[in-house]
Amino acid sequence: MVYAVERDVRRALTGGNAEMKTRITELLGIEHPIVQGGMQWVGLAELASAVSNAGGLGIVTALTQPTPEDLLKEIERCQSMTDKPFGVNLTILPTIKPVPYDEYAQAIVDSGVKIVETAGRNPEPFLPLFKEAGIKVIHKCTSIRHSLKAEKIGCDAVSVDGFECAGHPGEDDVTNMILLPLAARRLKIPFLASGGLGDGRGLAAALAMGADGINMGTRFMVTKEAPIHDNVKQKMIEATELDTALIYRSFRNTARVFKNSVAKQVMEIESRPGETKFEDIQPLVQGVKGRELFEGGDLDKGIWSAGMIVGLIDDNPSCEELVTRIVAEAEDILSNRLREMVSG
Ligand code: NAD
Repeated sequence: MVYAVERDVRRALTGGNAEMKTRITELLGIEHPIVQGGMQWVGLAELASAVSNAGGLGIVTALTQPTPEDLLKEIERCQSMTDKPFGVNLTILPTIKPVPYDEYAQAIVDSGVKIVETAGRNPEPFLPLFKEAGIKVIHKCTSIRHSLKAEKIGCDAVSVDGFECAGHPGEDDVTNMILLPLAARRLKIPFLASGGLGDGRGLAAALAMGADGINMGTRFMVTKEAPIHDNVKQKMIEATELDTALIYRSFRNTARVFKNSVAKQVMEIESRPGETKFEDIQPLVQGVKGRELFEGGDLDKGIWSAGMIVGLIDDNPSCEELVTRIVAEAEDILSNRLREMVSG
């Protein structure tokens, strides 16, 4: 068939991995429409540079660095590890210790990085600073109303985060099967599908539903370059789609985390009659315990964010292998399976 021949020629020309051009690859100047989501304690230079070197967009997580000066150094480290574009995630959500967000935002501008992923609260206060520096802003949104607002205030793209996602899925509990087609109908700016993505089927489906690319967090945690203990990666490989839990529901700051013994304790405390105070769970959930868990591999030390995609993760490839495989699988589905269905 003609299209198969065309595809094979393109593959030969591109070293076996066909190009997939979307509004997101154009906007961000990347080869493949795959972005690594910001992840607390995981988004270090090792992972971000590996994803960017694989042709996706790596993301350094700002708040993983204890100070804005440390963030600047981490960005410089990443710049020394890749000459491809990468971004920085700035998450604005409740924290145990106050965060000097303005100083982190200024450090991002000073670093010369040209892509920022914001998440959590409305990023409007930071937009003039970022825009003036020529930075493209992708805002992570868990609802259509927030996506439309992000478009209105001048964000360049949004990452539409379905209920399947790791970390904070918002409070509406709407999955990507609904959110993505809605985003395609209503948004003018490009958007990424985020949450529940980790393989070529997911990429092809997201593109079919109108997205311009995918954002993956949990899937990138189980890669050779992810800077976390092998025990965590192995646990996520063994996990099924039933192994995540929702915590902080009672604080309207819901988070999807791996269902370990600590997450179960938090759920039990939150389910007790009467109001839960954050102090009741703080010793269990503080981020610093999660960092120790990732470093030492004690899986019941604290909590860690994980999405439902754990049910589809069964290996620990390099970022290059993973990105290449996802793009090749998606390309095969789009050019063969689906094309055969419509070409009679
Ligand atoms: P932290 O140690 O300050 O807090 C631990 C957790 O408790 C965080 O999830 C935080 O949102 C929550 N929290 C803190 N104070 C709270 C309060 N008063 N009421 C309700 N919830 C409260 O946080 P950290 O682990 O150092 O992470 C730093 C930031 O990054 C936090 O804002 C966190 O939410 C965010 N984060 C985001 C993701 C994501 O999926 N985008 C994943 C991990 C962490």
